[in-house]
Amino acid sequence: MELSNRQEQIIEIVKGNGPITGEHIADRLHLTRATLRPDLAILTMAGFLDARPRVGYFFTGKTGFELLTENIKKMEVHDYQHVPVVVKEDVSVYDAISTMFLEDVGTLFVVDDHACLIGVLSRKDLLRASIGQQDLNAVPVHIIMTRMPNITVCRKEDALIEVAQKLINKQIDGVPVVKDTEHGLEVVGRITKTTITKVFVELVMEDHV
Ligand code: ADP
Repeated sequence: MELSNRQEQIIEIVKGNGPITGEHIADRLHLTRATLRPDLAILTMAGFLDARPRVGYFFTGKTGFELLTENIKKMEVHDYQHVPVVVKEDVSVYDAISTMFLEDVGTLFVVDDHACLIGVLSRKDLLRASIGQQDLNAVPVHIIMTRMPNITVCRKEDALIEVAQKLINKQIDGVPVVKDTEHGLEVVGRITKTTITKVFVELVMEDHV
């Protein structure tokens, strides 16, 4: 987050004199309290300053980097997940390949009639199955998929950074977002390496703190 000159000045005043009221900060800058209000609100929301009623503002001591880290840790799956692309276990490898192209995804989730997770298909799973195969229409995906219970999943309230760690540790491109139901783990979303890359770029482009 880029701070304006005035915001930097406010931080310096509060650092040296806190706790200090908004009125007193305004006096030192020869401005009115009303002029300062938006800056104080931004600095408080971003976590640089804290405000206590009837006491005033004080400096939290946190650097921009610490605040950024805190905010990243607060990001949860539900705010970033995409729609999952799913197939049934009896579709052919040929149809799964077509779906992957049509939907423009790298991972398909295989589900049962209750939309519950039973398998995962990656690009390489489908490539492997295609090598030397005569008729890809005759091979159902359940023969080649990675199956439950060996599937790494996440839930909507999980921290996004933990999901990113799972992608790295397990060397996979994506995980399904699941919801616990009486029939099993219903697939409700997906988080992929692309999701994480987009968040990384947005952190810089959207002045995010
Ligand atoms: P690719 O195989 O195209 O490089 P991945 O790295 O995602 O793509 O997949 C590697 C292997 O891990 C594949 O066999 C795939 O079925 C399996 N896999 C993919 N996603 C998961 C997951 N969430 N949990 C467990 N296994 C997975």
